[in-house]
Amino acid sequence: MSLMKLNQLYRSVILDHANHPRNFGELATRTSDLVLRNPSCGDIINVQIQVEANQIRAIKFRGSGCTISNASASIMTTMVKGKSLAAARRIINLFLDNIVNKEIKEDEQDQLGDALLLSNVAKFPTRIRCATLSWHALADLIDEQEGVKIND
Ligand code: ZN
Repeated sequence: MSLMKLNQLYRSVILDHANHPRNFGELATRTSDLVLRNPSCGDIINVQIQVEANQIRAIKFRGSGCTISNASASIMTTMVKGKSLAAARRIINLFLDNIVNKEIKEDEQDQLGDALLLSNVAKFPTRIRCATLSWHALADLIDEQEGVKIND
């Protein structure tokens, strides 16, 4: 595929998620939620999860963000919904490694799916926080869930 075609693919996937975000809104029943801000861009993201038996049964996000932060949050929710906390954490770590250009294996790249496209649009250091905001929020929520488990 030519570089131009590839760039068009990135754009269309990112724009589709930004304009039609998946899992956008408010969970009626939730275990916890968290708001994170990215002051340099003005993004505000609220991520909510419902966890049962160490599994993310439901996840939604809302807030106002730029195209990259909204698309990233949308992609993130589709990737971790239904996953165990441990599996979700693995995906988060892969994504965060990949976006700072840390080398990841080819089969790991496959696991990232659409999220892999984000690292290409977010190659400017100022946009990395836009792309990672919702992922950091989910990581904090998972920390909180696992903290709860340890205290039981
Ligand atoms: Zn942003």
